[in-house]
Amino acid sequence: MKGKGKLFIISGPSGSGKSTLLAEVLEKLDNEYFSVSVTTRAPRPGEIDGVNYLFKTREEFEGMITNGEFLEYTEYAGNYYGTPAEPILRKLEEGKDIFLDIEVVGALQVRKKIPEAVLIFAVPPSFSELERRLRKRSTESEQKIRERLEVARREYKQAVSYDYIVITDKPGDACREILSIVTAEQCRVSQREHLLREV
Ligand code: 5GP
Repeated sequence: MKGKGKLFIISGPSGSGKSTLLAEVLEKLDNEYFSVSVTTRAPRPGEIDGVNYLFKTREEFEGMITNGEFLEYTEYAGNYYGTPAEPILRKLEEGKDIFLDIEVVGALQVRKKIPEAVLIFAVPPSFSELERRLRKRSTESEQKIRERLEVARREYKQAVSYDYIVITDKPGDACREILSIVTAEQCRVSQREHLLREV
C-alpha cells in the first residue's frame, strides 16, 4: 500500500526563474501532478486555456469562491488567482505528489489547511541579481520594475516561514536541489509508516 501524496508549493519573486525551474523539475519526475490554477488575468501569447491556466471572468471566479471551490485564492497585481481544491484532494488520496506554482499569500493559506505541505521559495543568489534580471528581461517602465521589486521585498519577508530555499543560479542546480527535497520528503516516516505496520 502506498502512502498519501505530498503537496509541494513553489513560490518565488518575478524574475526568480521559477517557471523554467518547475518545468525542468516536472520533466524529471513521474507520478507528479501539476495543478492548473484559475485566473482572471488575460492569457499571454502562447498560453493555452486548460494548460497554463483556466481563464475565467471575474464573475465566474467569484461564483467559484461562493461555491467553496478553492483550496486557496488571492488577488495579485489586480487579478484573481486560485487553486481548485477538488483535484488536489483527490490526487493526494490517490498517492500522487502535487506541485503548485503559487505566490506567498496563497501558499500560507494552503499551509493552514494542509500543514504537511512543503513550501519551497526560489530565489536568485542575491537581491541585486534579482534586480539585474528584472531590468535585463524587462521592456517595462522603471515604475513597473520598482513595483515588482517592492512586491519581491514583501514576499522575501513572508517567506521566512517556508521550509526550503532553492537558489536559481547555474542551470540545473536548483532543479537538483528540488529533486533532493522531493526525495527526502518521500522518505519521511510519515510517508512510509505503512512499512512499519507489516510486522
Ligand atoms: P503570472 O500572472 O505571472 O502567471 O503569475 C503571477 C503570480 O501568481 C505568480 O507568482 C504565480 O506563482 C502566482 N499564481 C499563479 N497561480 C496561482 C494560484 O492559483 N494561487 C495563488 N495564490 N497564486 C498563483
